[in-house]
Amino acid sequence: ASQRLKGIVSFQPVTQDGKEIELGANISSLKELDIALASGTSGVGLFRTEFLYMDRSRLPMEEEQFEVYRSVAEKLAGRPLIIRTLDIGGDKQLDYFELPEEENPFLGYRAIRICLDKPELFKTQLRAILRASAFGKVKIMYPLISSVEEVQTANSLLSDAKRELVEEGHAYDGDIEVGIMIELPAAVMIADLLAKEVDFFSIGTNDLVQFTLAVDRMNDQISHLYEPYHPAVLRMLKFTVEAAKQAGIHIGVCGEMAGDLKALPIWLALDVDELSMSPHAILPIKERLLSLTQQDSRSLFSEILTCRTSRSIHEMLASFQSMQQ
Ligand code: PEP
Ligand code: MG
Repeated sequence: ASQRLKGIVSFQPVTQDGKEIELGANISSLKELDIALASGTSGVGLFRTEFLYMDRSRLPMEEEQFEVYRSVAEKLAGRPLIIRTLDIGGDKQLDYFELPEEENPFLGYRAIRICLDKPELFKTQLRAILRASAFGKVKIMYPLISSVEEVQTANSLLSDAKRELVEEGHAYDGDIEVGIMIELPAAVMIADLLAKEVDFFSIGTNDLVQFTLAVDRMNDQISHLYEPYHPAVLRMLKFTVEAAKQAGIHIGVCGEMAGDLKALPIWLALDVDELSMSPHAILPIKERLLSLTQQDSRSLFSEILTCRTSRSIHEMLASFQSMQQ
């Protein structure tokens, strides 16, 4: 199989009937970038920057961050690099940073909430990302957005960072794109409003499933209830993509569902622009993509939308998959 997959590394990711879709990588280290590059990645759809902050004794300086972002941007040689700002808290802790003990850390002090509460910490990262944007096609993405205000506050700190860099004579891409993760039900419901504030969306299905179903993604006892193919989740996805299309902004997906072979016809039917996944999933997904059509995917999806249970959705997706093999 791996020999067969190697043969399609340089193929364009396009269906039989001409729907092209970017297949990007989720990376959280430089090693993963190498695997992604070897798989012919379209770019990096999610650079998880937490590793720069973890397993160390102090916050990373702007210069250290800049060097890492720049080297990833350069290695991608013009392909897009979406850098997600710090998504700490929840399950991810920092040794040097007192995060409060919380009853519900996933609903607590985390991600963009910390960044907006600690503007200096946030601005240091934004400056490093902006400076790296002079060396490739860098984009910025905010995680865990729940309101228009959060986007506006983050963007105003971004403007401050840009102004400082101009004053100091640092270069950056003046057209740098800014996007948000859609991973909370609130963000889905106001997707039309959020779309007016940003250049792109990326759906974070891992958290979106968790929050839609109120099922802690880390809790083994209820893992059978963690169901990406729940009718409620599929409606959330459809609603979000339609809002992005209506506003004419780029729409990607970066949760685990993006790399799930079973979900591929759903993304084709919804007509998303980009799927970003674990680097190991890129070639298997591309191989399947090459054999599918958007037209068949659309027929399948319209039937799936009539399903009343996750079980019937699974059955329908499985029978579609077996027809492809
Ligand atoms: C997500 O929530 O789907 C996502 C991609 O982010 P993370 O898994 O890092 O929370
Ligand atoms: Mg998330």
